Formats: sequence, structure tokens, C-alpha cells
Amino acid sequence: MNKYLKIDPWCIIEEGFDSKNNCASESIFSIGNGHFGQRANFEEKYSGKSLQGTYIAGVYYPDKTKVGWWKNGYPEYFAKILNAPNWIGIDFQIDGESIDLAKCEVINFKRILNMKEGFLQREYTCELSSGKKIKANVVRFLSLANPEIGAIKYSIVPMNFSGKILVKSYIDGAVKNADANYNEFFWDQVSADVSDQKGFLVSRTRKTGFDVCMGMYLSASFNGKESSPVYENTSSTNYIETSFSLNVLKADDLTITKIASVLSSMHNPKDEIRHNAEVVLNKAINFGFENLLVEHKRAWKEKWAHSDIVIEGDDEAQQGIRFNIFQLNQTYTGSDERLNIGPKGFTGEKYGGSTYWDTEAYCLPFFLCTAPQIVSKNLLIYRYKHLQKAIDNAQKLGFSNGAALYPMVTINGEECHNEWEITFEEIHRNGAIAYAISNYIKHFDDKDYLFEYGFEVLLGISRFWAQRVNFSQEKNKYVILGVTGPNEYENNVNNNWYTNTLAAWTLSYTLEVIGYIKKKNPAHYSELVLKTSFDEVSEIKKWKEIIEKMYYPMLEKEGIFLQQDGYMDKEQIPASQLDPAQRPINQHWSWDRILRSCFIKQADVLQGIYLFEDKYDTQTIRKHFEFYESRTVHESSLSSCVHAIIAARIGNIEKAYELYLHTSRLDLDDYNNEVDAGLHITSMAGSWMSLIEGFGGKRVKDNKLVLNPRIPEKWKSYSFKINFRNNLIKVEVNEYYTEIENLSGPEFELMIYGTNQVIGAKSKIKMNKTIRT
Ligand code: BGC
Repeated sequence: MNKYLKIDPWCIIEEGFDSKNNCASESIFSIGNGHFGQRANFEEKYSGKSLQGTYIAGVYYPDKTKVGWWKNGYPEYFAKILNAPNWIGIDFQIDGESIDLAKCEVINFKRILNMKEGFLQREYTCELSSGKKIKANVVRFLSLANPEIGAIKYSIVPMNFSGKILVKSYIDGAVKNADANYNEFFWDQVSADVSDQKGFLVSRTRKTGFDVCMGMYLSASFNGKESSPVYENTSSTNYIETSFSLNVLKADDLTITKIASVLSSMHNPKDEIRHNAEVVLNKAINFGFENLLVEHKRAWKEKWAHSDIVIEGDDEAQQGIRFNIFQLNQTYTGSDERLNIGPKGFTGEKYGGSTYWDTEAYCLPFFLCTAPQIVSKNLLIYRYKHLQKAIDNAQKLGFSNGAALYPMVTINGEECHNEWEITFEEIHRNGAIAYAISNYIKHFDDKDYLFEYGFEVLLGISRFWAQRVNFSQEKNKYVILGVTGPNEYENNVNNNWYTNTLAAWTLSYTLEVIGYIKKKNPAHYSELVLKTSFDEVSEIKKWKEIIEKMYYPMLEKEGIFLQQDGYMDKEQIPASQLDPAQRPINQHWSWDRILRSCFIKQADVLQGIYLFEDKYDTQTIRKHFEFYESRTVHESSLSSCVHAIIAARIGNIEKAYELYLHTSRLDLDDYNNEVDAGLHITSMAGSWMSLIEGFGGKRVKDNKLVLNPRIPEKWKSYSFKINFRNNLIKVEVNEYYTEIENLSGPEFELMIYGTNQVIGAKSKIKMNKTIRT
């Protein structure tokens, strides 16, 4: 844990410069706009430890897999979203001496991430070794309104000298991924041109052939007036630069504006990309930095209008949730169904920017409630488009007849991870993808989706489960052997309760969907049967048998669903007895020791109870929470949010609050000691869930929105907005009452604290009730 940031409801603030926090701050202060993202690296030279990172959505490279001993079926490559050319660079030399915060004395330093308006600001004063003092102020943003634009305004003031300042603005294409498996370079230069304060670098990824064109424009103003210094332009391989120098007097103000256009061939034809980059750049130049910023702030205002959560009485909790919502909205805007959400978003390289089950299990619920329907639909279509690859993937592993196994880690639908235990064995991700379809339907009632896309995906996944189970004569049950559940601290286990539960549920849900589409549109159903060669009678017969005879490991006497066969053979020690100095255990223990221990990395059985809570009474849920929470070390960021929801569900608000703070401030307070590698973007959606579904008690049941709000002791009030079936609803909970407002859309019915209520258009209802425990 490392708590060095100031608490503020709308901003993240770092005061004072400590180089040992620099990489962590680079992650935390990252900015992005769905199209590209940027770590909070300094514009000026920095020779200290840093992970320079610019990432463009969808632009990836299939890095050669690194494994000790090759086995059949291993993924051939480990994809990564590439660290793209660095467009932010602006070097300053003061009478020949570089500004480099690693080398000079930093007297005042303040870095602010303004989440309300979406920009990064930095101010500092530094003293160079020559004794010259500089004061600087920098603002940077990646436009949410014009996603192909990034802009920087950098002011410097000489405080105690007069002299010559040399300014070099550049784009550097010679960047490497820090996580490259063989330290390879992934880019080739296509073209570079620079003249008249403007330059363009077109780079191409090796193997995948994505083109990226970055354009830049440099301008300067001096003491508030536009200035026309003599600009010089240079270029070399993978590099373009515009520079000028100016004589300044003490207290003069030199302000540099750098506007950049960042285009990729995901959205531009390669032979037009250079031209388009200039068009986009010219438009932005004409519009001007200030107007761009105004437009950008307006776009953020709009985002917050739908997704903000306000907490009164607890700024720490407030800052945590806003940070999570902000980062999620920076990462994914849902405008392109080829894109998805990497666990670290655009803030680091770990996990390669690939798609995991995190999207369906965690991110989708956030977007279902805070964004237009198309955003969630695009997340689902992403998987639909990968169906054939999932079928191919399953085929490689020996499955047939259209069985689909979606990858654990992917960018283009192919499996691309290089850890066998995870890639092959975490087959539960298939269930999350099926569950996501039902969740989408629950929220939007878009049953057409089932005809167009959903049925085929569900069929492929169901076929997989039907082949992946095997019948145990000894148990007279269907079992699923050799898997890894969500808890990655156990590999190759038999009968992971969560996986078995999800497999049987998928089969049941697919049967329900088949029943629906068959009845609703028999002709369309027949077409689908033909298209998928679905042998309805025999396949369904097998599914029903599996549902009926699925094996679920149990601790019979205690009535506890057991995480997997043999779990109780382990020495049972509560996680509270672990020496704090040994935590996180994954940074202190050998893998062998972790695998032998009873400690659970993340919600596993509880993940299943969370998904299917309607099947269990409160007493059963409480029993399982107590059993598993005491053994869970929460070393996956995806864990405490689910536990928080369940704690709230069983009325343990104090525990829910503790877990909520853990999940929502995981990165801000660096609980897992790893934020320098990037933020946990996907788990941020879990933080949102823990508030809305945990404290808010939001569910969707029988086509109705259900709310059951509770409020933690520390909070005076909280309020949130959710979209439900075209109604934007505001929920406010305080110590005296709960108020629901229908901000837009027609009259609708919901269930609150167990009673049915109807809210007219643009009206509110107040329930004189609130629950503290
Ligand atoms: C978790 C996985 C998750 C992955 C990416 C791992 O640490 O155990 O469940 O999919 O991180 O977030």
C-alpha cells in the first residue's frame, strides 16, 4: 500500500516530486479517449525510471510466445497492443542545459488529474545545476469530442535569469514495448515529413501491418502574444522534430502549444492516412487549443451526466468511485465493435491490452447501466464476430461439431496467451460470455439479438460444455476435470463448483432461448438450425441429461458448495493469520507454496453465488460468504468487488464498506503494490458494481428494475444514475429516505424495498426508508 495522493472529490492530486512514485503516477494520471491513451509521462526529457506509453486502440502485434517446453495446442503468439510512437515529447534546453526532473532540484511539484473536465495538469518549479530556476505549467488532454486529437499547452517562466531557451517538439517512432518477449522492435517507418511547424510520421506495425500516422503542430506565444520564432525542422528514421530558440528575460512567459493528430488504419485507408492526418490536424489548429478544450470538457460533462455517483460525507470513497468511472470512460466508448477493454486499458502493458473474461463478467454491467444500448451490444458483437475462431480454437483442442471455446486472452479472436494453466484451463470464460448475453437481454429486452447473434454463440458454447463434461460411472454424475476456476491459485482441479454451475446454467439458458425463438419465429429458427447443423433432438437430450446429472462438490455436513474436489485436504488457515509482511503472497511465496495453500486469489464459489443469487436464501449466502471470505486474499483486483456485493446482500454493510474501499481505491492506494505497471481498468467496473449492486441493491428481475438501497454508516448520502430500458433514473439515498427520479422516458414500474412502485415521466417518488445495516 502506498498512500501519497491527496483526497479530493473531483481531482487526483500529487504534491511534491518523489521519483520513486513516478511510474505509479504515470499509471494513475493516465488519460485516454477510447481511441488512444497516454501514460502520464512528462513531455520534457526525463532520465529517471519511467514507462513511456502511448497506446492506440486495436493496434497490436503478435509477439512470439515464450514457453519453456512447447506442447500441442499452445498459442503461437502473445498479442500485445503496441506502445506507439511518442507524440508528447517537448524538450527544453536552457542555455544548453536540459530540463530533466531526474537531474535538477524540483522545488514545487503538483500533478492534477481533473476528472470532472478530463485533463491532466502539472506545475513545477525546478532549479537546474547551473542555478537557473524555471517555473512551468502544463495542460494535456486527449479529446473526447475529437478522438483523433491530443493537445498540450506548456508554459515556462525563467525565474532568476535571462538567457536562451531551445524548444524541440518531436514525435519519436523508435519505441519498444517494455514487455516484448524477445526485446524486438515492432514498427517500421513508412514516411516522415516535417515543414512549417508541422510534421507527420507514418509508422507500420510489423506482421500485422497496421499504419499509424501521427501529425504534430507546434506554435508559441510570448508574454501572451503570438510569437513567430524561426522554426527549424529535422527528421531521421522514425523521428521528426520542429524546434526554435528564443532569448528570454527573467519573468517572461513562453507558452508552447502542441496539437497532435493520431490516426490509425483501423479507421483510415492506408493510402489516405497521411492526408487525413493533415486534414484532422488543420481542423484542430484552426479551432485552437482553447476551443478544443472547451469541446472536450463539454463531452466529459455529458459523460458524467449519465454515469456520475455522488457520495456525501466521505471524500475518500467519492474520489475512489469517480476515479474508477473516469478511467472506464476513458478506455472504452463503445463506438467500434472490433474494440474491447484490456485489463489495464491504455495505462500499461501488462496483459497485452487483450480481452479477458473481465469484459463480460465485470465491464458489461457498468456499460449496461451507464451508456447507450449500442455500447453493450458492441461488446457482445465483438464475441459474435469471433465465433468461428472460437470454434477453430475448440477444434484444435479436439472438440467438434461447432463446439466453441472462446479464448481466455485475445485481440482478434485467437487465443494468445502463453500460460498454459490459464489459457487452456480457465474454460469458465465461456460461461461468462453466455451469461453476458442473458444479462444484456435482461437489461434491454432486445430479444432480436438472440435471433441475429445470440443463439449461435450460445449453441457453440453449449456444444463445448456438452463435450467437455464426462460421465463418471463411480459418481453416476457428469464431471468436469482439469480446469482452473476464477481462483488462479489452484490449477488443474477437478469439478470447480463455479465452472460446473456455469456450464449447467448455460445449457439451461440455451434451452430457454431455443424455446423462445422457436415459438416466436419458427421459420427463422429452422434457418438457424440449418445454418448450424443443429441436431435438435439428440443434442438437447444430452444437454438435459447433463443438467440433471451435473456433479457439484459439497461439504455435506456444513452444506457448503466446495470450490473443487479435494479443497478440504488443504491445511485450512484463515487469511487473517497470514503475516502482513508476506502479503501479497504472489510477491513473496513460491508458486508451489501458493498452489498447496488454501488461500483463494479471488471470488470463485462466491462469483457463482453472485451470478445466481436467486437460487439461494440469505442464510445460505451468508454461510458461504463467511466460509470463503475468510480464506480469500483478494490478490486479483476482480475479487473484493464481488465480495462487497455479497456482504451488502447479507446485510454486513460494514464489511461491504471495507471491501468497497479496497476495490475502489485499489490503484489510488496501490493495495497490491503493482500500480506502476498500469491501472486495473476492468476491475474498476467491479467497483461500480459494488456500489450500485452492493449498496444500491440494484437487480433486474422479471423484467423489472429492483432496488434495495442501504447506506454505509460513514455516508451522509449517495446518489447514482442508471439507464434502464430508455429511462434515465436517479436514485438518491440518505439517512432519512430514498428517492427515485425518472429523469427521462415514459412512466415505468420498479420494485423498491420489496414493493412495486410506478414512477411517472419526469417524476419522483420518495420512500421514507433507508437501511444502515
Ligand atoms: C485474474 C483473472 C483476470 C486477469 C486479467 C488475473 O489476475 O486472476 O481473473 O482475468 O487477471 O484481469
